[in-house]
Amino acid sequence: MPDVTFVRPDLGVFCRLDELGLEVVGQRLEPDGAVLACRVEPGEFDRWCRRCGGEGAPRDTVSRRLAHEPFGWRPTTLLVTIRRFRCTICRHVWRQDTSKAAEPRARLSRRALRWALEAIVCQHLTVARVAEALAVSWDTANDAVLAEGRRVLIGDPARFDAVRGDWRGRALLAPHASRGQVRL
Ligand SMILES: [Zn+2]
Repeated sequence: MPDVTFVRPDLGVFCRLDELGLEVVGQRLEPDGAVLACRVEPGEFDRWCRRCGGEGAPRDTVSRRLAHEPFGWRPTTLLVTIRRFRCTICRHVWRQDTSKAAEPRARLSRRALRWALEAIVCQHLTVARVAEALAVSWDTANDAVLAEGRRVLIGDPARFDAVRGDWRGRALLAPHASRGQVRL
């Protein structure tokens, strides 16, 4: 009999949010998608001013939406609450670091990017299908995957050219009319 060990179910671990430095605090399940409310794991340097090193006081919070990898083909969106602080000395304002979760200004989490790249390169999905699974626009998915492909394959530009040609070919196969079916 195989040695099987179960541990307590944990939504954050199951959705690999722990890898992104996020803690899940709520869920909203809808027929066409799931939204996970998250907060950023407290960091050692959250409260210290990036400019002068002074201590920051909590100011407010901001929200950031990130497309995450889909589970069971149901789009999963992260609604991340990010704390902001104001320096008590120089009045500089900053927010918690979310670089583990996503690139600055990115619409996709790092796990979503990885999923999208593998879906296109390894599973041969179209950009349109990937965009639908992530609940983002075709352009958002395409731009993110191209950028991630460049980053991953940066050490081997020739290999990147081959991959780029491959998924651009798939993009051309997806009729432009299909853009209208993708949820924006
Ligand atoms: Zn300061």
